[in-house]
Amino acid sequence: MPTLQQRYQNIINEMQRLAPASQLLAVSKGQPVEKIRELYALGQRAFGENYLREAEQKIIDCCDLPGIQWHYIGPLQRNKTRPIAEQFDWVHSVDRQLLAERLGNHRPTSLPPLNILLQINVNAEQQKSGAAPNQISPLAQTIGTYSSLRLRGIMGIPKQLQSDTEKHLSFAALYTAYQQCLELTPGADTLSMGMSGDWQIACQEGATMVRIGTAIFGPRK
Ligand SMILES: *Cc1c(COP(=O)(O)O)cnc(C)c1O
Repeated sequence: MPTLQQRYQNIINEMQRLAPASQLLAVSKGQPVEKIRELYALGQRAFGENYLREAEQKIIDCCDLPGIQWHYIGPLQRNKTRPIAEQFDWVHSVDRQLLAERLGNHRPTSLPPLNILLQINVNAEQQKSGAAPNQISPLAQTIGTYSSLRLRGIMGIPKQLQSDTEKHLSFAALYTAYQQCLELTPGADTLSMGMSGDWQIACQEGATMVRIGTAIFGPRK
């Protein structure tokens, strides 16, 4: 069994080859704080969490680690926007006007702007979060009215169990959404796509940030 350090180093090396400019978000949901600290010691700074309660405890437990960055990547609920706006650096899952407005209103002025990605439901799946691509323009416009928010780009999660060919098409569609976002927000710089099972394909299709959990940390609890 490779160690955490070996798995991490292998992914960093492969990313360096495939997409030297893209960034790694270590998805630490369901993983203990000790592993977050171990990865931090190896140089990792950006961590992704899905569940607010679990994340809040980890943020407290890691408050002695300078420069650590927390990304909220789970489904957003309207009643959670305040604690998320107060404690996270990034939110990847904004898909409705109301959520953008609430995050904008709840982000404390004492903090730098909250980095926002618009989650796009790229395969138009019934139960999945994410906006339709035609919502990018109105959402970008709303976010632009808040000095407490900074639109950084697009996030997407293609349908599970797609073939590699289908995955390529889904990631390419997200890339198109990202280009649309860039036209509206020239400062945008982030296309967050690709997870443990498909991040290499995502890099080939232009991901600037990949979100990897189990391939680094091993299985979740
Ligand atoms: C859990 C999760 C990931 C990481 O998944 P792995 O398959 O463990 O790499 C990435 N993105 C989102 C939105 C997730 O919920």
